[in-house]
Amino acid sequence: MDVNVIGAGVTGCACALALAERGLRVRVHEARHVAAGASGRNGGFALRGGAMPYDRAREQLGPDRARALWRLTESTLERMESLAGDAFARVGSLRLAVDETERKALTSELDALRSDGFDGAWAERLPKGLGERYCGALLHPRDGSLHPARWVRQLAEHAARAGAEIVEGRRAVPDALDTPVVVAVDGGLAALLPELAPHVVPVRGQMLATEPLRERLFTRPHYARWGYDYWQQLSDGRLVVGGKRDVDLVGEQTEVDETTAAVQSAIESLVVDLVGRLPAVTHRWSGVWGQTPDLLPLVGEVRDGVWVAGGYSGHGNVLGLACGELVARAVAGDQAPELDLFDPGRFG
Ligand SMILES: Cc1cc2nc3c(=O)[nH]c(=O)nc-3n(C[C@H](O)[C@H](O)[C@H](O)COP(=O)(O)OP(=O)(O)OC[C@H]3O[C@@H](n4cnc5c(N)ncnc54)[C@H](O)[C@@H]3O)c2cc1C
Repeated sequence: MDVNVIGAGVTGCACALALAERGLRVRVHEARHVAAGASGRNGGFALRGGAMPYDRAREQLGPDRARALWRLTESTLERMESLAGDAFARVGSLRLAVDETERKALTSELDALRSDGFDGAWAERLPKGLGERYCGALLHPRDGSLHPARWVRQLAEHAARAGAEIVEGRRAVPDALDTPVVVAVDGGLAALLPELAPHVVPVRGQMLATEPLRERLFTRPHYARWGYDYWQQLSDGRLVVGGKRDVDLVGEQTEVDETTAAVQSAIESLVVDLVGRLPAVTHRWSGVWGQTPDLLPLVGEVRDGVWVAGGYSGHGNVLGLACGELVARAVAGDQAPELDLFDPGRFG
């Protein structure tokens, strides 16, 4: 084997595909099954950019690097569209302001986006019922909606067709594998690579799905209240709703993958706010992502021959595809300039 990859989520599958397309022999080791992690159980928001708003990224990174990061994710969205088939739709996303402070933050993000040539618009009309609860919204017209598990399974199929081997149901550790090894386990990074524990913490997100609603209330992913509330309505009418992590911010900083009554009940209240009643809840689930102090991923070599890609801070659908491909290129000796931003050694 030329390269071993640990984890068959979006990152690991994207990395395997890129390596196999370069003619390398690659084996993906997955403890459970393809898409068992956050990649198969997330909100399905395919958003451009980083986990921070664009104006904050400009302050944090400087205008050139912020622009480069946003461009990278825009081109990755194009790539996602070409790979995902019917698991992806470019319906845009709506970022809602819950109060005047958030409204000001969103308008200044929109100004920054426009002044750097990125698209974005202020939504003049909000979907039915939202006008009373929210005071405006920023529309990102080129974002998308994903069916997360279907997308990652398709990506895995692309990788397998290109020659990658995917071994499911077997936990792996980097030290027991021949190098190079790429560790692509986002929320599990601190557990698998203890040297990264100071720089990436596991954070749990929780979601639920309702029975199909007769009415079509939402045509694109919505997120609100600084990203703590998010929802979208699927094509069959079901509502998938998540967030409310701020009910217990400390308790949700965990790798224990299970739902809690407190957060689930807060999500139910959000459903009532959105729909006016609580439809039957058919599914409840949780997932874990990796969060870094500066909200930027960790991508690069951390030990001799041991590489990492993860730490997307809850924003890993598009970044996972991008970083899986970037780490594959780097392992193959082609270090992309964007990787400077994601250097896992940047915290010293
Ligand atoms: C509830 C929730 C909602 C989210 N919503 C969004 C969203 O709407 N938009 C967005 O962009 N991001 C969202 N995210 C974040 C996003 O899902 C993740 O950042 C992204 O999927 C990470 O992908 P990954 O492939 O790096 O890791 P994962 O998808 O977590 O995959 C890692 C895989 O590694 C396997 N694994 C772990 N340890 C081992 C081991 N030792 N050996 C072998 N295999 C191992 C796991 O079983 C898992 O399958 C959300 C996350 C959650 C939890």
